[in-house]
Amino acid sequence: MTNPEENPDTHVCVDGGLPGPWSEHAGRAPVEIITARAVPLGGPRAMNVRRTLPQRQRSLIGAWCFIDHYGPDEVSATGGMDVAPHPHTGLQTLSWLFEGTVSHIDSGGNSAHVLPGEMNLMTAGAGICHSETSTPDTSRLHGLQLWIALPEEVRDRPGREFEHFVPEPVGFDGGSALVFLGSLLGAEAPVSMHTPLVGAEIRLDPGAVLDLQVDPGFEHGLLVDTGEALTLEGVHVPKDAVGYTGVENRTLRIANDGDGPARTVLVGGAPFTEEVLMWWNFLGRSTEEIEQYREEWQNHGERFGRVEGYVGHGGPGKNREGMDRIPAPELPPVRMRPRKNPPPHARFQD
Ligand code: MN
Repeated sequence: MTNPEENPDTHVCVDGGLPGPWSEHAGRAPVEIITARAVPLGGPRAMNVRRTLPQRQRSLIGAWCFIDHYGPDEVSATGGMDVAPHPHTGLQTLSWLFEGTVSHIDSGGNSAHVLPGEMNLMTAGAGICHSETSTPDTSRLHGLQLWIALPEEVRDRPGREFEHFVPEPVGFDGGSALVFLGSLLGAEAPVSMHTPLVGAEIRLDPGAVLDLQVDPGFEHGLLVDTGEALTLEGVHVPKDAVGYTGVENRTLRIANDGDGPARTVLVGGAPFTEEVLMWWNFLGRSTEEIEQYREEWQNHGERFGRVEGYVGHGGPGKNREGMDRIPAPELPPVRMRPRKNPPPHARFQD
């Protein structure tokens, strides 16, 4: 996924962040509600994505730094997804679908079909580029793209890696989970991580209550995809929002008080203590670095390599607008300043 904004904000991503609207429920952890903002994916009839991270309120949950949620999208009405080759640095992209198929091609020589229930993880390291296109047989598209910030020691590695993993469902009383990253409910995903993380799709039947054991060193976010009456620690998390809980919780109670099935995605991790600068599709550590990445992309630099075989919705090598690659937006004139890291808690007000 590319960030399609014409004038993307620069986010200084830090753990913690300003305390957002949160709720307290007797005897349970406070929960901060992060609501999504709509971002059009480009084109006149474009599909919208719902972005819950990053926001001013909170920019990181562990090393998770970006949550885009989309669909269910009728491809006949919106045209689906057609993201021409675009670059990334310093991050991993994790694709998770509920419906549809996306064709992925990257400059590491990887070509894959992203299918529902199958985790696909691309590691950008020092630089990669890729295209993402919903396939012609896709009538509905519904899923997530998540980004993970890479820590200092691996973020400049030249390797362009791509991993694929299909988790087996793990059952519990009243539901099931697909653990696609890290460990949860006794399942472990054999996928490389550079900081401690967890990621899982969790489904709950009507009336189900799950007391989920979690790592107390992790902070967590629970995205609600389906379900109008889903609660986290007794606090209602609206559909399409993320309920955030800070560190120091050993269990999280997730309950479906609705009449229909609920589907959620849990992301969590150890607080990421490095300060990260995110602009457009780049993660870096300084304004100068981001400027350098942008210039190299605009000049077809070797850092990013080339996508071979992109077939967009405009034909071979072309998206609907006739572009063979996505140019970087203009950089903002403002220089970024470091920001203090507040603690990773959904905090009570003083
Ligand atoms: Mn992308």
